[in-house]
Amino acid sequence: MATPKPQELVNTIKPAPPATEWMDTPVDLRPGTFCYAGKPKFVEYLGFPFPREWRPQDEDWKLPPNWKEIILEGIRDRLLRFRSFHLFMDICVRCGACADKCHFFIGSGDPKNMPVLRAELMRSIYRREFTQAGRIFGKLAGARELTPEVIKEWYQYFYQCTECRRCSVFCPYGIDTAEVTMMGRELMHLIGVNINWILEPAANCFRVGNHLGITPHAFKGSIEGLVDDVETATGIRVNPTFNRKGAEILFVTPSADAFAAPAIFTLMGYMLLFHQIGLDYTFSAYNSEGGNFGLFTSNEMMKRLNAKMYAESKRLGVKWILGGECGHMWRVVHQYMDTMNGPANHLEVPRSPVTGTVFEHAKSTKMVHICEFTADLIRNNKLTLDPSRNDKYKVTFHDSCNTARGMGMMEEPRYIINKVMNPANFHEMPENTIREQTFCCGSGSGLNTDELMEMRMRGGFPRGNALKHVVDKHGVNLMACICAIDKATLSSLVDYWVPGTEIGGVHELLGNALVLDGEPERTQNLRGEPLKED
Ligand code: SF4
Ligand code: SF4
Repeated sequence: MATPKPQELVNTIKPAPPATEWMDTPVDLRPGTFCYAGKPKFVEYLGFPFPREWRPQDEDWKLPPNWKEIILEGIRDRLLRFRSFHLFMDICVRCGACADKCHFFIGSGDPKNMPVLRAELMRSIYRREFTQAGRIFGKLAGARELTPEVIKEWYQYFYQCTECRRCSVFCPYGIDTAEVTMMGRELMHLIGVNINWILEPAANCFRVGNHLGITPHAFKGSIEGLVDDVETATGIRVNPTFNRKGAEILFVTPSADAFAAPAIFTLMGYMLLFHQIGLDYTFSAYNSEGGNFGLFTSNEMMKRLNAKMYAESKRLGVKWILGGECGHMWRVVHQYMDTMNGPANHLEVPRSPVTGTVFEHAKSTKMVHICEFTADLIRNNKLTLDPSRNDKYKVTFHDSCNTARGMGMMEEPRYIINKVMNPANFHEMPENTIREQTFCCGSGSGLNTDELMEMRMRGGFPRGNALKHVVDKHGVNLMACICAIDKATLSSLVDYWVPGTEIGGVHELLGNALVLDGEPERTQNLRGEPLKED
């Protein structure tokens, strides 16, 4: 089914109470609003149970005969292992403060997309099976029985949550509905219910080192192609190395940076920066992925994928790891790495070889985000910049959920942007749509798949709306961000909601402005476009 046109979509948002109570409103698996099922070969490859052919729109999902016991045992086990999950099942007072904070609710008007009700899809089962009140009073106590219809509802709504955590910012009890979604997805894996667009990238990453399934030599070849593009744009030839043992730093970035526009322009910016400061770094063609689709799959998968870059840093004997512009790599490293795989004692506490700054906050993970690294270089006057080279852009900044809310990185990218362009050309979107309160791209957490396009555009409505505000008011023509998923998904979002706006990376803007030793006069930016509008 074709995605409705923007105005048609807006006309369908009717945030009015439904005709029936939520427990009596059946799930509506309509094309455009659900993801396709995981293909058996990927289910098998990752070692998840019950690989089989099935389709969400079919009546019979071919669940294993003892599916109910498996789910209940899965809940029991997680209540014991994850204290946060147990708390989130008990402490919600249903105040509704989170209700209108979710971009999927704002863009759909569907009550089950209110975070409070999304979590209630799980809590209702918890109450029925694990609390006395629920067992005795049933529906009166908000409890209901676990049926195949409930699993269908979980599938629909836990894959209409991007785990962005915006709702948790507004919850007076600190309930993190994203964690409930993560548990919902984990539990469904136990009975072979999963989506292909997460499983296939996770399997590719496990097999060849990146989500796209690109072989090591193709990864190297692609970056070498970008080396040619850098030379065409700047007259300077950069010399990245691959799998080089004894390099000081392992540089890991999302694979999209090496393959897809506009992310490739960001990678061109990194290489120029590293060339200019003479950084002793290497790419790994075997661990060619910063992103971690395990975050959207299960705790175990997250741990397995995160371990790869640490294993590779050990094999190559580097001192520390520098990470590219990425969202979910950072959420995993910042929030989970320490207790999952860490601390990384085979590495040294990161220290900038140019400024001498020791990144104390990274003393356990041994991993620094490129924005922290570059902001430190600029602050210590180690770079010569020509901001006028970005004069054709009027820029706004999209805080990516995982770097902003997930790890509190809000100032560094803004600091860099304001140094690499004329600050008068930078305009913030409205306050309640940026920083901690940022709106999600609507396609994160592995929902960046075309069959879900209607839902993605609904989820992207608040971000599109805020962007339109600065486009109309200030003539903004580029939205910068520091997450590879965002670079991919925001391109679709702006084509739909705010056509004519470009998406770019912070290090793309830096690469444009960076004055390189011995460079000829620059006439074009990293996109190969003239530096100034005629
Ligand atoms: S804001 Fe928190 S306590 Fe209130 S309804 Fe939402 S999750 Fe429950
Ligand atoms: S985590 Fe994000 S997508 Fe999920 S319910 Fe909360 S606001 Fe909505």
